[in-house]
Amino acid sequence: MSGSLSTAVDNSVDGPFDATAEQAALDLWTRAIERLRGRLSRHTFQTYFEPVRPLSLIGDELTLAHSSKFMIDWVRDNLLDVLLQDLEAQRGSPCAVRFVVRERLSETGEEPDPGGPTIPGDVQRVAGVPVRPPNINAKYTFDSFVVGPSNQFAVAACTAVANAPGRAYNPLFLYGGVGLGKTHLVHAVGNHALKANPACHVVYLSSEAFTNDLIHALEQHKMPEFRARYREKCDILLLDDIQFLGNKKQTMEEFFHTFNALHEAGKQIFVTSDKLPNEIEGFEERLRSRFQWGLIADIQPPEVETRVAILKKKAATDNIHLPDDVALFLGTHIRSNVRELEGSLIRLAAYASLTRAAITVELAKDVLKTVLVVRGDKPDVEQIIRVVGEAMQVRPNDIKGDRRQQGIARARQTAMYLTRKITHLSYPAIGERFGGKDHSTVINAEQRITQLMDEDTELRATVESLLRRLNG
Ligand code: ADP
Ligand code: MG
Repeated sequence: MSGSLSTAVDNSVDGPFDATAEQAALDLWTRAIERLRGRLSRHTFQTYFEPVRPLSLIGDELTLAHSSKFMIDWVRDNLLDVLLQDLEAQRGSPCAVRFVVRERLSETGEEPDPGGPTIPGDVQRVAGVPVRPPNINAKYTFDSFVVGPSNQFAVAACTAVANAPGRAYNPLFLYGGVGLGKTHLVHAVGNHALKANPACHVVYLSSEAFTNDLIHALEQHKMPEFRARYREKCDILLLDDIQFLGNKKQTMEEFFHTFNALHEAGKQIFVTSDKLPNEIEGFEERLRSRFQWGLIADIQPPEVETRVAILKKKAATDNIHLPDDVALFLGTHIRSNVRELEGSLIRLAAYASLTRAAITVELAKDVLKTVLVVRGDKPDVEQIIRVVGEAMQVRPNDIKGDRRQQGIARARQTAMYLTRKITHLSYPAIGERFGGKDHSTVINAEQRITQLMDEDTELRATVESLLRRLNG
């Protein structure tokens, strides 16, 4: 692309006034953003484009003013391509964009809240204290869940089920990646249903707990009690992380009968999974087809606006003073999942309160060095080790250490392989950073992972996804 974009800080009241240049800028800009409007979400649009003021078009240089340097940087990092494409399409020739920061702009009004809409509070409060099973978390409600384009379908399905258990979508199958809010929504359904009807029997558990309970019942000869627990004494069965049932034949068998009994009695079944029914290895065909009876809803990673809204909501709940620019900074740079987003916020808040520092973007950069993979900046070895360790559940110190247990060794080899791919450091330099290993260890690791990626599709998927993540 031939266009370019530059930024300058300009706090002068108003430059030399050129009405023609200003009109030309306004015309071009208005036409260009009309086209963007359809491509970007409403929130992105309101947050980043509506506050922009076109100042002048002189030659092929368009000057735009925005009140926030941070917003400008965001546009440059995330939307420059789209923007230039549109401007070029409008003009029929390449165009350069110059951004100036005009702080005066903010006087005209508040910065729009980049947050997504949230679900209204539940209106069905019924007198009487609901009997909440102790393992249902009272904090995970629809109220505390931020809704955005990535999850609105899932939330709509869950709300329908919570309002009319057994009648809306039965079964409901919710699937999505780690840390995207599946467990939160399952609890929200439980909490909501209990509030509406305190007498309702809500059973929540993970599929692992279900498996253990079954094993226990079999050993203790307590199958009648087991069946009563999940059939007669259950109006809503919430089974989390059902992917763990794959390959567990006997548990699947029992779950199949539980499913049938509940379904016939018009009781609600709601399960979550990080995979689709047909992607769960060793998942029985007849269970698969059962899930086709109801609704399969997915939940996607949140967009930046939703991430910021989640941060703001968490901050408000936790009484953390989180300035808008910091929320936007975190939301822009932490993209993997909501759990990581929350973790970073809490780490930052803890650090700030311990050192009695204010929460600022500078502080965030400093405290979250290892977490943030800032686009454009290549991740360093420490970040790679941390990210790999998290994904493969091995502590960074073990990756750098000498233990040869298979899981640890695999994570170490993966981290070395990725370091080589991403940083292009030499073999001895990489060895050095992995706790002083010999260069031959790094070479072996690289060869081993290359070979394993051909043989082991799961490892291959892990490595590829880590590579994508680390490369932003
Ligand atoms: P999953 O079960 O999909 O792995 P969780 O439900 O455990 O994910 O979510 C991880 C954390 O992120 C939880 O603390 C949850 O409250 C929070 N979270 C996820 N999505 C949202 C959201 N849209 N709004 C508010 N909090 C969220
Ligand atoms: Mg979960």
